[in-house]
Amino acid sequence: MSAQIELSNIDKHYGHFHALKGVSLSIEKGSFVALVGPSGCGKSTLLRSIAGLESITSGTLKIAGETMTGVPPRKRDVAMVFQSYALYPHMTVEENLTYSLRLHGVGKAEARAKAAEVAATTGLSALLGRYPRELSGGQRQRVAMGRAIIRNPKAFLFDEPLSNLDAALRVHMRKEIRALHDRLGATSVYVTHDQIEAMTMADHVVVMRDGVIEQQGSPLELYDRPVSKFVAGFIGSPAMNFVPGTVTADGQSVQLDIAGSQPLPLGRTVEAGRKVLAGLRPEHLLMGGNAQLQLPVAVVESTGSMTYVTTATTPEMTVVETRRTGVKAGDTISVGIAPEHIHLFDVTTERAL
Ligand code: ATP
Repeated sequence: MSAQIELSNIDKHYGHFHALKGVSLSIEKGSFVALVGPSGCGKSTLLRSIAGLESITSGTLKIAGETMTGVPPRKRDVAMVFQSYALYPHMTVEENLTYSLRLHGVGKAEARAKAAEVAATTGLSALLGRYPRELSGGQRQRVAMGRAIIRNPKAFLFDEPLSNLDAALRVHMRKEIRALHDRLGATSVYVTHDQIEAMTMADHVVVMRDGVIEQQGSPLELYDRPVSKFVAGFIGSPAMNFVPGTVTADGQSVQLDIAGSQPLPLGRTVEAGRKVLAGLRPEHLLMGGNAQLQLPVAVVESTGSMTYVTTATTPEMTVVETRRTGVKAGDTISVGIAPEHIHLFDVTTERAL
């Protein structure tokens, strides 16, 4: 495997503001990489730097082995797909698709043939004569994709492309985009603040925070082995519970700071007496039996398939059950967790232990 996009020690300053701080990232050819993180963490800045829409302050950026310093966006041979589609309203679907080819001097007949091919790939064949205003949101999104595909770029750069669509269409389009990526053997970089989108679409997820990469890995690596409380809380839905506690004198269990709770076995040895933050995912807290945690219930919400229980503890915890439990507010539930599902974090650095 070779890196299609290689970022080495990238810094970006906007005046006094340090938006990217020494970011290094290698994006393999053929991979689908998602950049995620909260608003303002620098993911769009990183994507726009790859596209050449932002100039980086220092560091090197290579696309297909070539250093991009001083290379303008249109010469980078990458295609951006935005949430706003950026379609030309006065042009038909076909004209929107072929616009950039024509700009690059491709003849009319060849451009039309290419448009027909791309329209077939993206399911737009019947819509070539329509104007953007005559299309649904999903169809416009496909035109935006088609316009990116038609130039056969070295990489696709997506900036929150689905955020204008309703929930059902988003779920549909994320499968469609991923299928298209696979069919084309493309290299894709996809910015989203939606961790579910990142987890379901990408081979490799990059979690950013305040201009640095906090952790990167496969979706399941991030879910199973988050390096910090930040990543642990960001990946997974509903979010992980964090409860302060103390490692027991034998170093084998953690006693949570929750009234009436018994120590939770860790299945490993940790420094005895250490103060920690325990991370317990809602879906790993199992109700029933004679489990270690006795938790009073504050709120019960059911979606039919899932029951979400919010506890009346401090801190408040969430427990998710797929079974119908009949639990009501005011009840006390008995909850346990397998040792391998207990995450521990340092109380000060919030790094995983
Ligand atoms: P969002 O999800 O809200 O789009 P993001 O992670 O994509 O967030 P960026 O757009 O990359 O964030 O912005 C990173 C930081 O840089 C933010 O704090 C933003 O305010 C700042 N920033 C972005 N563009 C500029 C600019 N042109 N001038 C000054 N600061 C900027």
